[in-house]
Amino acid sequence: MRQDATEAEVRGVEAAIEARGFKAHPIPGAQRTAIGITGNKGAFEAPVFEALPGVLEVIPVSHAYKLVSREVKPDDTVVTIGGVPIGGETLAIVAGPCAVESLEQMLTVARGVKAAGAHILRGGAFKPRTSPYSFQGLGEEGLKILAAAREETGLPVVTEAMDLEGLDLVERYADAIQIGARNMQNFSLLKRAGRARKPVILKRGMSATLEEFLMSAEYILSEGNYQVILCERGVRTFSDFSRNTLDLAIVPAVKKISHLPIFVDPSHGTGRRDKVAPLSRASVAVGADGLMIEVHHDPDRALSDGPQSITPAMFEALVKDLRQIAPVLGRRL
Ligand code: PEP
Ligand code: MN
Repeated sequence: MRQDATEAEVRGVEAAIEARGFKAHPIPGAQRTAIGITGNKGAFEAPVFEALPGVLEVIPVSHAYKLVSREVKPDDTVVTIGGVPIGGETLAIVAGPCAVESLEQMLTVARGVKAAGAHILRGGAFKPRTSPYSFQGLGEEGLKILAAAREETGLPVVTEAMDLEGLDLVERYADAIQIGARNMQNFSLLKRAGRARKPVILKRGMSATLEEFLMSAEYILSEGNYQVILCERGVRTFSDFSRNTLDLAIVPAVKKISHLPIFVDPSHGTGRRDKVAPLSRASVAVGADGLMIEVHHDPDRALSDGPQSITPAMFEALVKDLRQIAPVLGRRL
């Protein structure tokens, strides 16, 4: 739309798009509003839209991903989770245990990470485990514990939804919905997340290409939820000294083509406690908008992902380092 286009003109164009059976996605920007159009099959009557009041130009988007691309929205998106901005100047740190194990465990870790400077609390209530005999999470009870931890610390909470039923529950209790690596291409779950009214943290599948990752985000945006944060968490390679290979090069690659913020999860990305801090520092250096870190007060007795969980003391030391690194890169913490 033109820079001086009125609200009524924007609504008029949306109505014209919808009258043709397409979907309109108004995307406010710093300079002007863009309106993304999806749902058209084949050629598009550009001249019809170019003639509407307030329209500056009609631009066909060349990539398969549309709404996530900078072609549609040049400026960075800032997503807000419970009042915490993600994607702006300030880095955001999500911390907490892999799984919610008990009220006492969750509160102990929550107090520790809050004191050290975390902005958002994590903890899985529904755990995608390789073995059906491993701890599967506390389910709704775990969500209630997360809500209690938020109540006490004031930190917003994020937790994973593994299926449609779980997503209804997570949407009710949490401040943001995590879609895990194993579900990155669970398209019905992505569509449901797109209809949710809470921000979504979408983790990269362990063998997903950049294009597949962005297309999965596109599923969520195409349903009308524009509050999406990507999260690199390591991919499968031949490397045998870590659980996964943290693909930090994807951060600048994403930034180049997408306006969405991106986190890095160095816990799953390395699988090793001693590698979490160095890779966190590197993540900030390559331009990540935030980190997701697994912290446990007694990692050797954690019910899941103990070997990659750092202690609250290690987390505190890491945040101190990041506070020094951030300003060098024009960021704040
Ligand atoms: C997690 O965050 O605990 C998790 C299961 O992550 P991922 O989906 O990246 O394996
Ligand atoms: Mn985990």
